[in-house]
Amino acid sequence: MEVLKNYIDGAWTPSTSKETIDIVNPATQEVLAKVPYGKDTKKDVDLAVASAFKAYQEWSKVPVLKRVQVLYRLKSLMEENTEVLAEIITNESGKTYGESVGEIQRAIENIEVACGTPMLMAGDVIEDIATGIDEMMIRQPIGVAACITPFNFPSMIVFWFLPYAIATGNAFVVKPSEKVPMTMMKIFEFIDQLDIPKGLVSLVHGGKDSVDAILENPVIKAVSFVGSTPVARYIYSKGTANGKRVQAQGGAKNPVVILPDADIEMSTKIIADSVYGCAGQRCLAASTIITVDDQKRQIKDALYETVKSRTTGYGLDREVNMGPVITPESKARITGLIQKGLNEGAKMLLDGRNASIAGYEKGNFLNPTILEDVALDKELIKTEIFGPVMSLISMKNIDDALKFVNSGNYGNMACLFTGSGANARRFRNEADAGNIGINIGVAAPMAQFPFSGWKDSFFGDLHGQGKHAIEFFTQTKVIIERWPNIWSRKF
Ligand code: NAD
Repeated sequence: MEVLKNYIDGAWTPSTSKETIDIVNPATQEVLAKVPYGKDTKKDVDLAVASAFKAYQEWSKVPVLKRVQVLYRLKSLMEENTEVLAEIITNESGKTYGESVGEIQRAIENIEVACGTPMLMAGDVIEDIATGIDEMMIRQPIGVAACITPFNFPSMIVFWFLPYAIATGNAFVVKPSEKVPMTMMKIFEFIDQLDIPKGLVSLVHGGKDSVDAILENPVIKAVSFVGSTPVARYIYSKGTANGKRVQAQGGAKNPVVILPDADIEMSTKIIADSVYGCAGQRCLAASTIITVDDQKRQIKDALYETVKSRTTGYGLDREVNMGPVITPESKARITGLIQKGLNEGAKMLLDGRNASIAGYEKGNFLNPTILEDVALDKELIKTEIFGPVMSLISMKNIDDALKFVNSGNYGNMACLFTGSGANARRFRNEADAGNIGINIGVAAPMAQFPFSGWKDSFFGDLHGQGKHAIEFFTQTKVIIERWPNIWSRKF
């Protein structure tokens, strides 16, 4: 069985660690490969960082116009290899082939935005800020940066950071989720073809030990993290305590409100896609659906009809629209939470717990579940389920709905379905979340905009993507200067 190598100093390098864990296809339970794990992975990180620092010293002197040329090449390689990449993503993460192609497209869009770095990192100048004195601000790279990413988007999330980091002149270390590291192995075959200094971009595997090595290595100046809230909080506090710049995106519990003036057919289809897309394993998955006024019955029936026709199965079968969840432990956690909701008084409208897919009986499958009348003061309504489960609740009016939306600990996304501009305007102004959808079910910011979580969904200041990423990976320098014209000086 293949043990994955790291990519360090421009070469495929076996890990110093002899310990490994299995990478498992969630639909079949087939072991795809083994990934290095354990405390010795710390040495791998330190080797990668030493080489990255040397590469940074060379790369930061390369003109930005030349630096972005490698991104054009990377974009082409990603486009030419979309099919093979999508198959790898589906096999290791379980999502459908279409969902895999979609996330590669989002990754490519971030490369495209970062190709604009020669404009985006431009500074400012004020001539004659005082008589004969000019002042300017320039942006310089920070050095070596690293990202630590989750299992649910094996390709896309790394690209919220990597293209911006290298375009602005930094070196970059990637630590993917140990559950889905094979997608990055393929992407690093493309990175290996780029005309960049050895060690500029490295891949290191592992779990908590390699993460701690990143947080402890003094050469790393910035850390980008995406994952669950407890780990995000840990990364932020440890990373900043060690003097690093940190952006840490955490978990979510996303409410969606449907007002009586919404288009019910359109809304319910969009909401079902949001709840059950990627088997509910998206940080922007709708989770709690709030109906307002007397439309509960109609919305409930429409949701039920839309949801029950969805097909679950192996993501490479093209007619399937929902794959398995990532691990058997995850499946057990989700079914446990459903049971908890029922114990807390919720009613079962659609029970997806007994999914069995012919030919894939060992897979971690769950069918869509709908719970209604979920208790507002109990655990299920507050906990991130990260699985294909919808909780339906109803409120008297938009005031109560907004109060509920703002009562949660998370602030990743809140959505409203309505036909009223006035209600939409009020919601986008008053909802406490960093990403707002109006008649949109997955309010994922495109690459031009920051991925803006709030509250327990984000720790830090500058977010991933777009101009925020350019700011995160650069430090500003302000220069004030005087150049007396010695030729016209009177002595
Ligand atoms: P996770 O927090 O378990 O793992 C994320 C990364 O952290 C992995 O690389 C892992 O190796 C590392 N890690 C895990 N435990 C650690 C520990 N104790 N110390 C140090 N490092 C550790 O997350 P996951 O299960 O892979 O991903 C799902 C979570 O990610 C969900 O909560 C989801 O909402 C969140 N997520 C958030 C966003 C966002 O933009 N806010 C996007 C995608 C996923």
